[in-house]
Amino acid sequence: RFYRSLTTAIKKVVLLGDAGVGKSSLFARFCGEDFPRTCTTVVQLRASDIREFQVGYNNVRVSLWDTAGVERMLSLTENYYRKAVGVLLVYDVTDRETFENLESTWVPSVTLRNNKVKAFLVGNKTDLITDSADVVSEEEVQIYTRTCPLDVVGTFRVSAKTCSGVEEMFTKLAESILEDN
Ligand code: GDP
Repeated sequence: RFYRSLTTAIKKVVLLGDAGVGKSSLFARFCGEDFPRTCTTVVQLRASDIREFQVGYNNVRVSLWDTAGVERMLSLTENYYRKAVGVLLVYDVTDRETFENLESTWVPSVTLRNNKVKAFLVGNKTDLITDSADVVSEEEVQIYTRTCPLDVVGTFRVSAKTCSGVEEMFTKLAESILEDN
């Protein structure tokens, strides 16, 4: 076990989704940073970070990649997708269009290049849910997972702002990825 943990490969996971859904904020949480309050249009310098998780007796090192804003230009490179074992498909639970764009844009962008990846559907901004908001329901998400051409192994609802569900998501992500060893 000791030997195994020393040789644990780094598992690459990429963030995908429309601009503004909160990818950089989730990435900052992954890096252990506070919720960024400032304007995020500034180009980010750091676009990937590694965290080690303990799953039972094993360790798994997850390298999370953020688009650093280039999804606005739809110019994510092949390198971004290459060798990824997991993809976090992020939408805003209060913005239906961002959920629909997973099916029309982001999922196809993955299947084009790499369809062995494990997919996680992440509904962010749950703190904005109100009675009057048009919220993407859990049921709709479950229905989509049945037709999604990717291997959807998890669905989460989180808030990068309040941190609700975020650590649980990263832990589940690490567990699912480790199972593949
Ligand atoms: P990205 O373009 O997908 O990387 O999204 P950002 O992380 O830059 O977030 C876009 C905007 O949404 C910023 O103003 C964030 O402060 C805000 N935001 C991100 N996550 C949340 C959240 O969970 N709740 C709320 N209320 N706002 C959020």
